[in-house]
This record gives sequence, structure tokens and C-alpha cells, in this order.
Amino acid sequence: MAFEPNTLETMRLIKDLTSIPSPTGNTEQVLAFVENYLKEVGIASTRNNKGALLVRIPGKDDTKQRMLTAHVDTLGAMIKEVKADGRLAINLIGGYRFNAIEGEYCTIETSDGKRYTGTILMHQTSVHVYQDAGTAARDAKNIEIRLDAKVFNREDVAKLGIGVGDFVSLDPRVEIINEEFIKSRHLDDKASVAILLTLLKKLQQDGAELPYTTNFLISNNEEIGYGGNSNIPPETIEYLAIDMGALGDGQASDEYTVSICAKDGSGPYHYGLRKNLVQLCEENGIDYKVDIYPFYSSDASAAIKAGFDIVHGLIGPGIDASHAYERTHRDSLYHTEKLVYAYLFSEIVK
Ligand SMILES: [Zn+2]
Repeated sequence: MAFEPNTLETMRLIKDLTSIPSPTGNTEQVLAFVENYLKEVGIASTRNNKGALLVRIPGKDDTKQRMLTAHVDTLGAMIKEVKADGRLAINLIGGYRFNAIEGEYCTIETSDGKRYTGTILMHQTSVHVYQDAGTAARDAKNIEIRLDAKVFNREDVAKLGIGVGDFVSLDPRVEIINEEFIKSRHLDDKASVAILLTLLKKLQQDGAELPYTTNFLISNNEEIGYGGNSNIPPETIEYLAIDMGALGDGQASDEYTVSICAKDGSGPYHYGLRKNLVQLCEENGIDYKVDIYPFYSSDASAAIKAGFDIVHGLIGPGIDASHAYERTHRDSLYHTEKLVYAYLFSEIVK
């Protein structure tokens, strides 16, 4: 099973994906891109009512099935309030801190589809004016959007069609460095979506038959906890989420290996499946780290919580500074892609 992933192709696809805004709740544009990508390589997909995309690849055995998922939705925000001075207060979508977006460019999409740019700033930013610029809390009260428009009050903003409930997407600032590193917001989880799409394309081109019917779910509500907890066929035994490995002090994961999650905030992942994944790495020369993500849950744990009787697992590329300005290395993409490929052709062993 000599498969050499083309990580540059994967990185370019990640760049395309992160460049399309898709905060949870407003993911149609990126899902249309994914749908079209699959169509162009000759793979049919369907949608569920939530808008997520499903692909079914028939395998030798249809009585036992697998499901793999990655999510296209990302962190973002909504306009919470238009302030008297024309600045915009925001309410965050997904789990992150305001300091992670201070100074970031953003785009506001109005309900009638117009787009305006702005910058996310502390109200007390200018050190020439505010003595507490460095110490004031980075929170919902002080962080606001400065619109790139000549507005002085609420009425001016209303005239642009901007109002409460408009979606705010964060500028990804995606950059590929020397074909080695990719730094961008939203590598979580668009790096994994790109890996699944690249592998689906390869399966289609090779025409190789998988041992089990395998369902792919590109979910669009993971960041708020319920992306991949539906549309799981009753024959499904194994459910593998491809999402990011979390890096930091005391973490085993890094940007150069595939991270295999033993446990996260939701509890241990299935022990047998985890051991199979480790074995696949050992057999195929795949560099990996087994890790625990303390403050984390996934679409696989969401499926378990929703009551599905499945064996669940979680793997993914190591992503530095997750839920902020993220980065990973081609090696991590390479080893993740190799593991997913090996897994697709492996036996289901409970
Ligand atoms: Zn994620």
C-alpha cells in the first residue's frame, strides 16, 4: 500500500477552503465549493437538512459500514449591537477568546447579501488617548468592529443595511511558506476537509474497492457541538472524526506528526480503535503521537452523546495556536493523510 500524499496539492486546497468565509450557521458558500469539487472528480453527494454534505462510497461489505467526518464550519461572530458611535459590538460563534482576534480584519455579511470590511479592535486601542490600552479586559464590552465606512452613529450604520444578527467572518490571512508551513485561521478543520477531499479524489481515480461501505460527512455545525451527530447509517460500526490535534505545554502532539486522540474533554475514545490506528501507523511508517486534549470535544463524541451505538475515534494534524492564528507543517498533513488512507483499507476490529 505505497501511497505518497501530494501535500502541496492538499495545502493549495486548504488555501482555497480557508479563503471562503464559513462561520457556523453560514456555511453554504463553502459547502457549494466542496460539492462542486466532488462533482468535478465524478463523485455524487447529497445534503442533509442541516446543510451538511454526505458521500457514500460502496464497499465489498455493505452490512458493516464506516463513517468519516471533518467539518467546514469555523469560528466567527455575529453583530450583537450597533453602538451609538457607529462601532459594532459582537457575540462570538464557537469557543475562543477575544484576545485571539484583536487587530484582525473581518467581513460583515448583511442579511441582503452585501459585504463590508472592518477591523476588530479594542475600544481603548490608541495609547495616545487611553492609559488602560494595555490592561483593559479583552471582552465583549471593549472589543468592537471599526467599519471601513464613513459612519458616525447608529443611523449611518443602519443605512448600510448592517444590523443585529449579521454574520462576521474573520480574515484567514492564509499563507503557504516555502511549501512547508501553512499558516491561517480555520485550519481547524479545513485542513482535514482538504485531506478527505484529496483522498476521495484518489479513491475515485484509482477505482479501488474499499473493504466496507464508507460514508463521508462534511459537517457544518461542529464548532457549536452538533455537527456530526446525525445521518449515521444503522450499519455503521466505526466512526472516525478527522479534526485537529491540540498543541501546547505538556501536549504530545506537534506540527510534524498525526495526532491520535486517546481522550478529550468528553472522555476516552474507543480503546480498540485507538490501538488499531496506532498499529496502522507502526505498519506503514507513519509518524504519530498519542495525546489527550483536555478542553476539547469532536463530532465523534457528539455522535456518541446523541445515542449512536458506534466505535468512535479521533485523529488529525497537529495545529499550533488552535482557535487563533493557526499553523501546521506539511509533515503533519502527510502523516494524517497516510493514516486515513491506510485506515480506509483496514479491517474493522472491535
Ligand atoms: Zn475542529
